[in-house]
Amino acid sequence: MLKKSVVEHIQINKLMATATDTTIAQKLEALMKLQGIDSSLDNILKVRGDLPEEVRDLEDEIAGLETRLAKFQGEVENFNIQINNYRNAKKDSEKLIVKYKEQQMNVRNNREFDAVSKEIELQGLEMEIADKRIKEIEFKILNKNDEIGGVESNLFERNKDLEIKKKELEVIIAESEEDEQKLLKDREKALKSADERLLKSYSKLRDNARNGLAVVMVSRGACGGCFSSVPPQRQTDIKDKKKIIVCEHCGRILAGVNDPLPGEVKEKKTRATKVSAAAAAAAIAASAE
Ligand SMILES: [Zn+2]
Repeated sequence: MLKKSVVEHIQINKLMATATDTTIAQKLEALMKLQGIDSSLDNILKVRGDLPEEVRDLEDEIAGLETRLAKFQGEVENFNIQINNYRNAKKDSEKLIVKYKEQQMNVRNNREFDAVSKEIELQGLEMEIADKRIKEIEFKILNKNDEIGGVESNLFERNKDLEIKKKELEVIIAESEEDEQKLLKDREKALKSADERLLKSYSKLRDNARNGLAVVMVSRGACGGCFSSVPPQRQTDIKDKKKIIVCEHCGRILAGVNDPLPGEVKEKKTRATKVSAAAAAAAIAASAE
């Protein structure tokens, strides 16, 4: 972590040495402005919270339910076709039975009579089987219709939820839309005045930072992004703004140092105040020699 940030530090310094159009202070100021705009945009999105995602999830769920409904309806259609086929087969069997019964009247011997009787019996069996199958399929249709009813009522509820969430989101978006549009315009402007290569580091830092902060101030002797202490000499360098300095711990760009407000110095002993106390003690010892 430390090594990486040091390398980044060196790289940023190198590119700073070649670009002379704007001063480091101006570049830092431009980046801070961009950071302010991006943080405001982050806040707007935070207010919208999970709503946009919830709306998307609901839309996905509804699409899934609709697909399932269409599949079930297709299955019922298929069952009905099967029933029709069995009914047609039954009609064919009926016709055959009529035909065989006529044949039975004209047989010449018992053997022929028995053969035709067997055919009649066979067709009768076919009709019984068809009836059995039709009943089975009708039962399947009944069950499928139950499932369809479940999906339909689920779909109805989900659509109602979606409508509510969508309206909620619309209201929230409407509340911040104007601000958002203005910020996006400001952002475009800020991007134009920002250093292109610094912008790349900025974007990368922002992607990796949970709080979306890529450029921070040193406050109370600590990095405003990760709150690790920044040594006094480093703070002086940061104040000089002769080069781009990044936090040794998190790699964020340190744009400046916020001077402590009166009274703040005495607050609870953080690592930073301990370090500066030690530095002060060393300074006193040195002057006493
Ligand atoms: Zn840091």
